[in-house]
Amino acid sequence: MKPIQVPFLDLRREYSRIDDQINKAIERVFDRGRFILDEEVKAFEAEFAEYVGARYGVGVSSGTAALTIALQSAGVGEGDEVITAANTAIPTVNAILRAHAKPVLVDVREEDCTIDVFELKKAITSRTKAIIPVHLYGYPCDMPQIIKLANEAGIRVVEDCAQAHGAAIGGKKVGSYGDIGCFSFYPTKNLGAYGDGGMLITDSNELAQRARMIRHHGQSSRNVHEIQGMCARLDELQAAVLRIKLRSLDERNERRREIAKRYMGELQGVQVFEEKSGRESVWHLFVVRTGEREKLMEELSQRGITTAVHYPTPIHLQKAFRDLGWREGDFPVTERLAGEIVSLPVFPELTDHEVSWVIESVNEVLATH
Ligand SMILES: *Cc1c(COP(=O)(O)O)cnc(C)c1O
Repeated sequence: MKPIQVPFLDLRREYSRIDDQINKAIERVFDRGRFILDEEVKAFEAEFAEYVGARYGVGVSSGTAALTIALQSAGVGEGDEVITAANTAIPTVNAILRAHAKPVLVDVREEDCTIDVFELKKAITSRTKAIIPVHLYGYPCDMPQIIKLANEAGIRVVEDCAQAHGAAIGGKKVGSYGDIGCFSFYPTKNLGAYGDGGMLITDSNELAQRARMIRHHGQSSRNVHEIQGMCARLDELQAAVLRIKLRSLDERNERRREIAKRYMGELQGVQVFEEKSGRESVWHLFVVRTGEREKLMEELSQRGITTAVHYPTPIHLQKAFRDLGWREGDFPVTERLAGEIVSLPVFPELTDHEVSWVIESVNEVLATH
């Protein structure tokens, strides 16, 4: 094939398909002149909660806000421990810290990069208040096992679904397993706003009500502030945009799956992570593993293909968290993966031609080494 430029992600391609609808929706909000907690947010909360399979949705300002507020609503605070996966994105840990709890990391499984349930069980102490399983790259964690463990130990489960809108296990969507499911609508996510946004979903009226208060200065009704809260609301413009994009989420996830299937079937010389036991990924990222990562990334870049690493430096080795007592060697699988994983382009608007160029390039680069 002749070399072509393949971006890692190009959000303009989606916009150019739906610009009429988006522009109309935005105009509708401007015409109404109400920008905070009005009918668009209310409608999107109901629509998205229904999509995932939960009773209530609470729109917030980001995925980090969703996680923070979820923990606070569940009563997590000073002196509590919250367990999460060592390979997660930074925001999961920041949310635990913002809720004044102590983050406890657990290593992941080599075969699918999700939290190791055996290690998780060992990490539970009398101070453990919640677990945050992270459906990283769009691939569901072993939720039935995690829920069973949490129920036995009497602890809460808050799912980090920031990369997994629509992912499911045997047809039941992630976010509907735990006490609360948290989503991010950061522009690059499978369902992305044109700015920041997030939502937490739950079947509990009590948790939903607390979350609603916390995101809005702890207010229960006008001038009545029942608890200490913050300012973390989803806005009307983003909600209006997200309502339109939600309609094509399944179709766009399906296209990601199509691309992932081609990668899995045609890539040579790299390890791929396949779906197992009824767990349906939404392929937020297509991550492969190779001992020759730097070479592969460099040569793909020369061929016009942009790749990325999610993530090169694990939480426990980040400068920001150096006072939390973690050391190199604490989470060997996470560390090994961090040195060998690379994400290939996988957004829905990639053309078959572009996918073919990525496959041909990976196979040629690794065949010559
Ligand atoms: C993006 C992301 C978040 C946080 O989302 P923001 O909207 O950026 O706050 C949390 N967890 C994971 C795994 C993410 O990928």
